[in-house]
Amino acid sequence: MQNESMHYLNAIESTGDADELLFAEDERQDDLSPTRPAWRLLIVDDEPDVHRATTFALSGVIIMDRSLEFLHAYSAAQAIEILKQEKDIAVVLLDVVMEREHAGLDLVKTIREELHLPEVRIILRTGQPGQAPEIETIHDYDINDYKTKSELTRTKLFATITSALRAYRQIRALDELAFYDPLSRLPNRNRFIKLIDEQLHHQKIGDQMIAILDIDDFAEVNDALGHQQGDRLLQAVAERLRSNLGSDAVLARIGGDTFGLMDKLDALDPAGILDLFRDPFAVLDDSMVVSATLGLVRLSDVRGDGLDALKDANIALKRAKRKRRGGHVVFSNEMGFDIRERVRLLRGLRTAADNDQLLIVYQPQIRLDTGRVVGMEALLRWRDGEGSFVPPDQFIPLAETSGLIVGLGDWVLRTACQELGRLQALGWADLRMSVNVSLIQFRHPGFLDKLRSALQDTGIEPARLELEITESVAMEDADFILETLTAIKALGVSIAIDDFGTGYSSLSQLRQLPVDRLKIDRVFVRELSRQIQGGHIAAMVVELGRSLGMTVIAEGVEDEQQAQTLQAMGCHEAQGFLYAHALPATELQDWLLAREKPALH
Ligand code: C2E
Ligand code: MG
Ligand code: MG
Repeated sequence: MQNESMHYLNAIESTGDADELLFAEDERQDDLSPTRPAWRLLIVDDEPDVHRATTFALSGVIIMDRSLEFLHAYSAAQAIEILKQEKDIAVVLLDVVMEREHAGLDLVKTIREELHLPEVRIILRTGQPGQAPEIETIHDYDINDYKTKSELTRTKLFATITSALRAYRQIRALDELAFYDPLSRLPNRNRFIKLIDEQLHHQKIGDQMIAILDIDDFAEVNDALGHQQGDRLLQAVAERLRSNLGSDAVLARIGGDTFGLMDKLDALDPAGILDLFRDPFAVLDDSMVVSATLGLVRLSDVRGDGLDALKDANIALKRAKRKRRGGHVVFSNEMGFDIRERVRLLRGLRTAADNDQLLIVYQPQIRLDTGRVVGMEALLRWRDGEGSFVPPDQFIPLAETSGLIVGLGDWVLRTACQELGRLQALGWADLRMSVNVSLIQFRHPGFLDKLRSALQDTGIEPARLELEITESVAMEDADFILETLTAIKALGVSIAIDDFGTGYSSLSQLRQLPVDRLKIDRVFVRELSRQIQGGHIAAMVVELGRSLGMTVIAEGVEDEQQAQTLQAMGCHEAQGFLYAHALPATELQDWLLAREKPALH
């Protein structure tokens, strides 16, 4: 290799002078700022002479307003160490043949695939044309240039480096766009994830903490004050966080009103961060008070990559929001298990309908004074792939948050109406069918149409259908609820308020609603067996129903004692294991037959 490098030295020393180099530079020189950092070039070559010749050839050169700084590696291993330690290396001038024939190309592979440095530009130099890499290699490893050392005269070396630096600058500018938030000048979500990835990659994870900080009710602030003020507020929050966090902390803006933080475990103090929100933020002429909520995760608890870390922190954030705004929650693995279990369930539920895993069971409802059957409640059941029943308390909330409930609920409504039609045709003409409707269904713009067409298609009498909405739904948005319930009543369908006593009803609102029936929640039926000071809630609900002119039905009646107490209170109807469990359609028919013969006309 001695000969090659001698040849090379001659080549670069034999041409041009410094002036020519500067002329070749097309950028303006006059706004040269001494504060701009130099371009960092790494020379990798096992020949010390090549290092000397290169730095000599390029000494004092200015490219795009910046001088050059050289780093030197004499082996691939040394180059890897430098690339791991040093930041912002723009160009690697790399000798193809060093200790081994492929040492240079192997290093290129390492730079791209293992060190994950896609930005650094690579110029390969070799002694002989025969050592040129394959075209695919040049392409796959994003090699900027390939030159034999004899080709690289001083001028050409300069031109090659200039074009590599220009490419590097462009890549960085694109990165800037892709990785920075223009409003706060902070790294964005992508960049934050990448920084976490790097942290995980370098195995320095034991002592790092990730946090997501969410500004409480920011949407309202934004709506009330206008987006410009909202933007200013975000900038003020970013500024306060930046100036109060330690110098090792990473701060990013990862969403509209969310910031990402990463710092050493003992340096990231949630209470201290939330305290930063005590003083108002100066926004133009105003000052504004906002609070924030934090979700945190220890990096050592994260299984997976940066994105998984963010997901975990987000789970913790959601918990924190549910508990109390202005507080914080640290992620624990059970939370992750919860969520994975939910994901698994949701996946199953999506296909449950297609796989015939869903069925409806019907629980009879009884008139307490006569003991006659008045109707039944339709309850959804899901028998999963392994044949075991998933409790509705688990899958209904999941179906609600995922929106699946809209389709499912529609199916329940239709099927229940069909079943009622069938029973009527068999002679049970006076039975009522109760169907649970969740808030999500209720709010869906197509709900009334679905209800109308279910009634029409099955031909049942609307007065025989009852919709059960929970107390919390009834107390939602007063105008909307009143409007919808009125439309339902106009169709002739009746309405019951389910789980009554568990929500926070406003009596004035309740009085205005066109409700037919109150359903006493089963927890209040259960407590009937105990002596309770100040009377039973069940008794109060019965009283309330009487004064509002509504019928009252008790659910969860399990023994005769409870039934008698309820009847004595004046409760009209009951449903519970005392009479029957919820039964599949055919069993319900048998049960009805055994209990009361259909009135055959
Ligand atoms: P819910 O509407 O309050 O239904 C009554 C629940 O009490 C049913 O539980 C029923 O099986 C249970 N139950 C009945 N009698 C007794 C008794 O004597 N003792 C006890 N301990 N429990 C009794 P299930 O079927 O597990 O349903 C739970 C909840 O799931 C329902 O509460 C309802 O809110 C929801 N749900 C069920 N099916 C549907 C549906 O089709 N659509 C919607 N939106 N929600 C549904
Ligand atoms: Mg119900
Ligand atoms: Mg209930």
